[in-house]
Amino acid sequence: MREKKAIVVFSGGQDSTTCLFWAKERFEEIEAVTFDYGQRHRSEIECAIEIAKELGIRHHVLDMSLLNQLTPNALTREEIKVEDGQEGELPSTFVPGRNLLFLSFAGILASQVGAKHIVTGVCETDFSGYPDCRDIFIKSLNVTLNLSMDDTFVIDTPLMWLNKAQTWELADQLGAFEFVRERTLTCYNGIIADGCGECPACKLRRNGLDEYLRSRKES
Ligand SMILES: [Zn+2]
Repeated sequence: MREKKAIVVFSGGQDSTTCLFWAKERFEEIEAVTFDYGQRHRSEIECAIEIAKELGIRHHVLDMSLLNQLTPNALTREEIKVEDGQEGELPSTFVPGRNLLFLSFAGILASQVGAKHIVTGVCETDFSGYPDCRDIFIKSLNVTLNLSMDDTFVIDTPLMWLNKAQTWELADQLGAFEFVRERTLTCYNGIIADGCGECPACKLRRNGLDEYLRSRKES
């Protein structure tokens, strides 16, 4: 039996778009939520809007500009370079508290629209050192959300233990491989599909894709 309703935290990137297709199979009804926190590239938000429209999914775009106000960061400010963190340091793309805020707001939205499930594409395998992508954080927040609203939400994390190649494989199993490849935006330089090829996000995406395509050929 399919569960009734879910909210999908949706950025228009590879991971959350794969989650959108995952949720479409599992729930009778889904709604997507995108957080506008002054991303460097408006194309991210536009890409998310386009995808939701095309898939016929009700889409909420919430203004989270306060996050940018609090934590200027490489994802929101042109003058800060995108860099991997040095040993023991968080990368410059880390936004403190981002998933804490986003998932809390997604929880509030879920309670408003009568959804029990909240789906997010966070992943511990490739977590790039982001502490709020860890499974233990999600489990902890799930308990907190339920206590705060006296409810029984379930945060679903279909990608938690997958690597990038396995995420492509999941998209393929869901019949969404081409769609995810051509329509999503992962690149830190705001270039859709295969991206700029140079930034850390593009390299991660490309490596995963190459690995998956190789394994598909072999099998
Ligand atoms: Zn790029």
